Amino acid sequence: MPLLPAFPARSYAFTEYLPVKNFLSGEFKEGSTGQWLPVENPRHGKPMGQMTLSSAADVDAAVEGAKKAQVAWGRTPMRERAQVMLKLKMLMERDNEELSWLVSHENGKTFAEGKGDVDKGIECVEFAASLHMMADGGQLDVSRGVNCRLTHEPLGVVAGIVPFNFPVMVPLWMAPNALMAGNAFVLKPSEIVPYGAMKLAALLKEAGLPDGLFQVVNGQREVVEAIVDHPGIAAVGFVGSTKVAKILYARGAATGKRMLCLGSAKNHVIVVPDADLELTSSNIVASSYGCAGQRCMASSLVVAVGDVQPIVDAMADRVRKLKLGEDMGPVISAAARERITAYISGAEKLGAKVLVDGRGAAVPGNGGHWVGPTVLDHVTPDMPAGCEEIFGPVLSIVRVPTLEAAFALQNRSYYANGAAIFTTRGAVARAAVERLEAGMVGINVGVPVPREPFSFGGFNNSKFGHGDITGWDGFRFFSRPKKVTEKWAAASDASWMS
Ligand code: NAD
Repeated sequence: MPLLPAFPARSYAFTEYLPVKNFLSGEFKEGSTGQWLPVENPRHGKPMGQMTLSSAADVDAAVEGAKKAQVAWGRTPMRERAQVMLKLKMLMERDNEELSWLVSHENGKTFAEGKGDVDKGIECVEFAASLHMMADGGQLDVSRGVNCRLTHEPLGVVAGIVPFNFPVMVPLWMAPNALMAGNAFVLKPSEIVPYGAMKLAALLKEAGLPDGLFQVVNGQREVVEAIVDHPGIAAVGFVGSTKVAKILYARGAATGKRMLCLGSAKNHVIVVPDADLELTSSNIVASSYGCAGQRCMASSLVVAVGDVQPIVDAMADRVRKLKLGEDMGPVISAAARERITAYISGAEKLGAKVLVDGRGAAVPGNGGHWVGPTVLDHVTPDMPAGCEEIFGPVLSIVRVPTLEAAFALQNRSYYANGAAIFTTRGAVARAAVERLEAGMVGINVGVPVPREPFSFGGFNNSKFGHGDITGWDGFRFFSRPKKVTEKWAAASDASWMS
């Protein structure tokens, strides 16, 4: 039975998909609850399919199958593991268009944004596929006839729990590195967008990954908690909201698991008067409204220093020209639309000026969860729109008199995923690198997401746990270092101190 429609609509037309099942030991299976959850297409606001709901028993089955498969995989040379990743990359390229539409259908992104999700996912696969080519020199002759070396051992069965906003990329932040390290990987997709993971499971099977190494368990809180509590799972990577990240980090760590939990964001973008008008306004608008603002690296708060009115005007002009439905998709759900519009109205009530108002916007002839791009000026840092994550197409502008005040404001932020500055002065840029307290800093870049092999992760309440989730850090998170000291000395009295 095909998993997805044989000819997926290569357009924004409403497309129905077959039901999403779990992927356990190489087969698609229904969860044990017998219940199904509708999966909505946010552009049309109606169900495009449904997803099986699983219980803790399904997590047990996934871990059991994963454990068995991992034994041989853990002993498989890395170069052989890499062949699967190389094949996966080719298959993702072959099916890039289909995957991009799929992401667009389940998440509401524009096709170009769906393609961005897929392309960045491919980059993560490429990094993992190269790991065996990048031996990091963990070897030293420490004494006469004695050498020490470092190997990276698998942890066993590891897991990833992911959010709705990047259905393909975020699972690929974790799974390829975890598999390359010799682990089996259990994925809990977002129940809002489970199709991307189902397609990845099919592609990994086609790429030759042995059954049991990539297990997908679909569900909600019960499944997440069963994963975090499971004694057979050694490490969990979580990406989602801070509220959940914080709870799961503590819960998993209490079981002795290795936990890395990435959370929410409120990314401050400082604009100073010498900033280039075109570059600044175009980059900030792309960053704030791309993916309808539903990116943990979106510019959500502009900190306008001194007189930058021409840049604010240029941004507002660009925002007014964005075409809803073409340049920008819907938000994920009706609940998200309500939450976002409540932030706009709340800020207005507290004295913010609504420069561009996205409330009540719609795309004619379409249902869907639309919020138009919105700009709020004269927001203050204590307003909810000034300090909380809105996660929608709303840019708040806070006015400050000096660069020092801008740094101080950013440094007080509860979240600290990304931060950026727009300037043409090197000394100001350098000061920003030193003073901004965020995991990922941009200079004249609206979305400073590090490209592989640099790793992704924030500071403060945007991340719980040590290290980052992609790149080298991701590989280290899903492996454990073993130090080997060997003596092959001709002299019998050679010691490790000789
Ligand atoms: P979410 O926290 O609601 O859900 C994430 C995952 O946790 C899902 O798989 C969901 O099923 C599960 N979950 C939800 N509530 C739970 C609960 N009470 N107990 C256990 N599990 C639960 O996040 P979301 O709405 O899907 O995604 C948006 C959030 O993710 C935003 O805050 C965004 O900033 C964040 N995000 C962060 C990063 C990052 O790298 N820091 C990347 C992408 C998204």
